[in-house]
Amino acid sequence: MKRALLAASLLLIAACSGPKRTSVSDMERGSQPTPSNKEEKPQPEKKPEVVEGPTKQPEPEKKPEVKAAQVKRGKLEDPAEPEQKRALDIIERVTGLKFKTPIPVYIYTPEDLTEEMKDWGDGYVPENVMGFYRPDTKTFYLVPKVAGNNRSFGLRVHEATHALQDQHFDLIKLHESVKTSDADDALTALIEGHAVQVMIDGLSDLSPHVAKIAEVREPSDKHNPNAWSTVFYYAMGAKFVQHLLKNAEGYPGVHKAFGRVPVSSEQILHPEKYLGELDLPHKITPDFDAIKAELPEGWKVKDVDTLGEWQTRLWIMTSEAAYSAAADAAAGWGGDFEITLVRDDKPQAWLKLRITSWDSESEADEFCEALALMGTTVHYTQDGDKVLIVSSSEPLGTLPCNKLERAMGKSKFE
Ligand SMILES: [Zn+2]
Repeated sequence: MKRALLAASLLLIAACSGPKRTSVSDMERGSQPTPSNKEEKPQPEKKPEVVEGPTKQPEPEKKPEVKAAQVKRGKLEDPAEPEQKRALDIIERVTGLKFKTPIPVYIYTPEDLTEEMKDWGDGYVPENVMGFYRPDTKTFYLVPKVAGNNRSFGLRVHEATHALQDQHFDLIKLHESVKTSDADDALTALIEGHAVQVMIDGLSDLSPHVAKIAEVREPSDKHNPNAWSTVFYYAMGAKFVQHLLKNAEGYPGVHKAFGRVPVSSEQILHPEKYLGELDLPHKITPDFDAIKAELPEGWKVKDVDTLGEWQTRLWIMTSEAAYSAAADAAAGWGGDFEITLVRDDKPQAWLKLRITSWDSESEADEFCEALALMGTTVHYTQDGDKVLIVSSSEPLGTLPCNKLERAMGKSKFE
């Protein structure tokens, strides 16, 4: 279930629906992007300048093919809308790729857009969503001119870039191809980083501040992983794309990355591990029989995952005491395997067994120093360049942590 929810929410992000959508919101707001500051986001009560769709009816022969049921509230924008044509021209000029089919654009009020989004997926609706592209309907849903012409034009360019990605690289297939949170993070950073960089390259004459979207800044809500995730997908994703632009033959090199996606957030954070000597995560295969033999009765495996360097860093950053050590502590990440267990008799209870391996024993030492700063919320054992961690909703003293960690150490590391 967790994986499914995560995939859905990441797909929303990838589709640029606006979950904690710092960059786009900032772009809409003006020239001083400050990641994830809720207070500064456009307020819902602000009405857009245009609350009704365009009065001109679309010409029938140009009407894009969309099933009516997929768009419940919006109004189809005139396919000849000059703003849309200008956006597509800019994207084609910057990327060198051509749109294969027209993108239906539906015009919404902010309230209707929120309702439309509730019907999509699991009901999750991010704050202040002003536009999104849905790969499954190939349609672009937009609240136009909500925050000034230049800013809404930037949103249009960003979302239309997702449509271009979808037409050339198939976003749904790409998301289905990844199996772990870490791989999803890497893919999403590529998708968002590309769309951000196209905006920067296409709009910097019009709005010089747009380049600030790629600046990595500490969010005001710095212990909140969601606030940092926005920075990762947009700013760090754009930095990754900039690295490819510079070192991999410009946009054709960036587009090749959609055919050979970065496999881990580690490669986004350290692009040289993608382009240079490929640094692949260690493959970890737990000995489930050994682990099950040590488990107290009632626990059953619910989910397995790989968190990656980025989420490992985020996890450390949730701790006030370990915050400033997080980036360095996570940087030696080599691989991880997380097993989540639950109980039928206690629905809220959870147990996480995290098997991690590090680039060297000293990198593992550094990680353990950060864990020590985090206090007694986790139990861990270091075994050379491996660190085995138990965390739970239940008091750790009631669990056989040492025995579990010994069993976790029997994993196969490749
Ligand atoms: Zn986006």
